[in-house]
Amino acid sequence: MLAIGDFSPLWAGENLEKTPSWIDRPTRWAQLTLVEDDPGKFDPNFWLDYFRRTRSDAVCLSAGGCVAYYPTKIPFHHRSQWLGESDVFGDLVAGCRKLDMVVVARTDPHATYDDACQAHPEWIAVGADGKKRPHWASPEMWVTCALGPYNFEFMTEVKKEIMSRYKVDGIFINRWDGSGTCYCDNCRELFKAATGSDLQRANDARDPAHRDYIFWRQKRLFELWRLWDAEVRKINPDSCVIPNTGGGATSSLDMKAIGELAPILIADRQARRGLAPPWLNGKTGKEYRSTMGAKPIVGIFSVGLEEPYRWKDSVQTEAEIRIWVAEGIANGMQPWFTKFSGVIHDPRWLKVVADIYQRHSRAEKYLRRQTPIARVGMVYSQQTGWFYGGNQASEKVEDHTLGWYQALVEARIPFEMVHDQLLDAAHADRFKTLILPNIAALSDAQCEELRAYVRRGGSLVATYETSLYNERGEKRKDFGLADLFGVAFKGSGERQMHNSYLRLETDPATGKRHPLLAGLEDAPRIINGTQRLEVEARRPFPHPPLTLIPSYPDLPMEKVYPRVEKTDIAEVYLRESGQSRVVYFPWDIDRTFWEVLCADHGKLLQNAITWATNEDPPVRVTGPGVLDVTVWRQPASLTVHLVNLTNPMMMKGPFRELIPVAEQKISVRLPEGAHAKSVQLLAAEKSLPVEQEGDYLTATVPSILDHEIVAIDL
Ligand SMILES: [Zn+2]
Repeated sequence: MLAIGDFSPLWAGENLEKTPSWIDRPTRWAQLTLVEDDPGKFDPNFWLDYFRRTRSDAVCLSAGGCVAYYPTKIPFHHRSQWLGESDVFGDLVAGCRKLDMVVVARTDPHATYDDACQAHPEWIAVGADGKKRPHWASPEMWVTCALGPYNFEFMTEVKKEIMSRYKVDGIFINRWDGSGTCYCDNCRELFKAATGSDLQRANDARDPAHRDYIFWRQKRLFELWRLWDAEVRKINPDSCVIPNTGGGATSSLDMKAIGELAPILIADRQARRGLAPPWLNGKTGKEYRSTMGAKPIVGIFSVGLEEPYRWKDSVQTEAEIRIWVAEGIANGMQPWFTKFSGVIHDPRWLKVVADIYQRHSRAEKYLRRQTPIARVGMVYSQQTGWFYGGNQASEKVEDHTLGWYQALVEARIPFEMVHDQLLDAAHADRFKTLILPNIAALSDAQCEELRAYVRRGGSLVATYETSLYNERGEKRKDFGLADLFGVAFKGSGERQMHNSYLRLETDPATGKRHPLLAGLEDAPRIINGTQRLEVEARRPFPHPPLTLIPSYPDLPMEKVYPRVEKTDIAEVYLRESGQSRVVYFPWDIDRTFWEVLCADHGKLLQNAITWATNEDPPVRVTGPGVLDVTVWRQPASLTVHLVNLTNPMMMKGPFRELIPVAEQKISVRLPEGAHAKSVQLLAAEKSLPVEQEGDYLTATVPSILDHEIVAIDL
């Protein structure tokens, strides 16, 4: 059986190559992805003018892969049928260079044609049925194998040709990591040689052979990344490849390794779809930053709808585009608009993006060289997603995180995401509190890092099955963090709860309630979650603030009465040790909050963080509505971003209109001894009086339409 350690020397380690000198230059990105019949039909000068008007300083242009937009000499590199003798890509590159833009070429290797399939059958992906895979959307094309010679040889030649001809600053690679598991001879042989196993048809994370596949695929892809990067840098040492990759707990390539390899990373979450809050774009920014640190991260946004029906030539409402992009900017991402097709079928987005980019350009000084100063970190764990969640990772893993995320946004608590492979002091100690939202799969070493974090004064808030499994998703007899929680896992009791409640207790000694119950003073009981673990206290927990009212029937209505009025079974375990505080909920409070959005659970989650963190927050914002609040330090300033999510379409887009939120009072903690020189509202383009008392600056923001940035010069 393979483990992450078997491969990590191959994919981890500092990027051996030099960071390209241009990497910190861009702030606003434009992407024009041409379609095959664009050459001769679209107007390149219109686009060059639009890049100038939007003050875009970096661009990504279609070069090759599925379709070549330059006169390629490489066999089977399919030139656009409309290209003729022209060089559309080269002309655009020259135009963008005149605008002093950073120029990145776009390639997409995921599909090819019949002639390639006949000459090189080994290039084509094979399905579980043993047949070559026709492309699902373009029937004249074939899906390519990502892990074999098509990418390793053919696409390497394509990249070398593009770099030799145009000396671009980088090559962005879309859809490079395969379209599902490939069962071609090459993949099966390579997998067998590496692991001794046959490629599995099933997709069960608890099957060791499938675990091997998860690692082996990553090993191949990181090898491919390094190969491409090395080959383009041989031609232009000041360039790099930028594979389209990355994400949260459910993403498939190790984010820690990506963070080490990539000098810049582009997040491809273009818009929301289905039931989704707008803060998902901000979440992506936090996830990317968790392993990229101060390296640039960029958020691609689509001007069109992103529903599964893929109306790629559509246009979103102005309000939806504005809030989605604002969430990315407020969470540290450079904006990157993407447009497919040089011919514009619906121009309504043009003014919207130009407005957003012009405003971004005015605020640019405050959007560079910034460090978040949030004191709360939320851990995410890809190994928990892969080996504990498996096929159900979105319900068993991600929904816990989403519940916390929503609660923290509602509570206006700034926070960052933290990768579970980066729990060392250098990464963890800038946070006073770490949240572990059902981080089920943790190694002994990770548990030890968390113990050390607590010994150094850090606080933890954990839920449900956190640390009950090892890093391979194998269940432990007891929690890996049993000593920190102060409880032991009792095993095989009933987990499901139905119509169960929580009693809110008063400490009989003091006649007071615990601060965990703040805001619930008039509530004798509230709803419980849907699943709980049976645990046993291993130390005294006197007067638990929440106790269990067990499940009782919910029908017939005559039978709906509690069979047990009161138990002494605690539903939260709170510990203090020096500066450190540990909160453990043995039930799925976070997941239930995401499903049910019960305001009482939201208060418990907020209070748990406030109690555990036990210090003045870096920023307080009071006023009506839902705001995503982030707070940043730059070399000579502080900024507070306020994104107004208050909208009837908050939980399901698209926004129809922006609705201004009323007056907000903010209080910001300045660095010790610092004095504010000036306070500006960058969106309203207005100065505010400096009101400072001690280390706290207060300001009143009269109204926020979409995204206000309070900039405090020090
Ligand atoms: Zn293959």
